[in-house]
Amino acid sequence: MKTILFLTLPLVLFAQSITLQILGSGGPEFSKRASSSYLVWVDGKARIMIDAGGGAFLRFSQSGAKIEDLSFIALTHLHIDHASDLPAFMKAGYFSKRTAVLPILGTTALGDFPNINEYLERLFGKRGAYAYMNDILTPQSDSFQLKPILFDQGFNSQNFGDIVVGTVGVTHGKIPAIAYCINIGGKKIIFAGDTSASSDNLIKLAQGADYLIVHHAIPQDAGKFAKRLHVTPKRIGEVAGEAKVKNLILSHRMKRTYGSEDESLKLIRENFSGNIYWGRDLMVLPIN
Ligand SMILES: [Zn+2]
Repeated sequence: MKTILFLTLPLVLFAQSITLQILGSGGPEFSKRASSSYLVWVDGKARIMIDAGGGAFLRFSQSGAKIEDLSFIALTHLHIDHASDLPAFMKAGYFSKRTAVLPILGTTALGDFPNINEYLERLFGKRGAYAYMNDILTPQSDSFQLKPILFDQGFNSQNFGDIVVGTVGVTHGKIPAIAYCINIGGKKIIFAGDTSASSDNLIKLAQGADYLIVHHAIPQDAGKFAKRLHVTPKRIGEVAGEAKVKNLILSHRMKRTYGSEDESLKLIRENFSGNIYWGRDLMVLPIN
C-alpha cells in the first residue's frame, strides 16, 4: 500500500492541468461570435492556438493569454475566417516579451491557396503586403522569428517540446485542409477544422480522443455545394461514434444552423452517446 502511494504521488503532483478554450465559435459571417480560433491551456499558460479567424485577436486578449507562452500557432487551412487575424498577432507580438521563434503550422498549396511558407512570404516577405515587417521571417527579427512548418495531406507527427502534434488531410471542397491531433499530458484533443469528413481520415486521427472539436456549419438539409465543404450533423455523429471520442464540441456555428440545433442533436445521437457541448466564445472546458 505504502509502495503504491509512493509511486502514484509524483504522478498526481506533476499531472498537468489542461484546459480547452474556444476563442471564436462562429463562421465567416457578421455575427456576435468571433471566427474560428481555439486555445489549449497547460498549467495556466496558453500554449497552443489553433486557427486565427477574425475576432481571435480580441478574444485572445480577453482570455488573458500571452503570445510569449505559445509553443506554436496551427492553421487548419487558409480560408479568411481561419487565418485573417494572424498579422495582427504578429504586430502585437512586437510589443510583447516574446523573443523565441514562433512556429506557424499549416498546409501544402493547391489551386489559389499558397502553402504555409508562401502564405507567410506573401504577408511578411520583402514583396509581401506587410513588407515593413519582413525581418520577422529572419533570425534578425526585432521581436521574434516566424518559422513555417508544413504538413502534407498524409498522416504526420511532430514533437514540439512536451506536445506531440499529429495531422492528416481532410476533405474541404478543393481547399487544402488538415485536422490536428494535440497530445499533451496523456490527453488527446482533435481539431477537425472545416471538413465534409467524406474520407475516414478524421475517424482514424480521432480514435479514443478526449475531445473532438467539429464544425456545425450546416443543417442536415443543406445544399450540395455546402455539403462538399462541411460535415452534416448525421456524419458528425458517425465520426464521433466510430472514433469513440469522449466529448464532442460543436463550433463554427453559422446562422443557417440557428434553430436546427435540436434536430442536429437527434441526428448526432443516432451514433454517438458521449458528451456534447455547443461552442460559444471564451467557453472554457477542463480536460480531466
Ligand atoms: Zn473553410
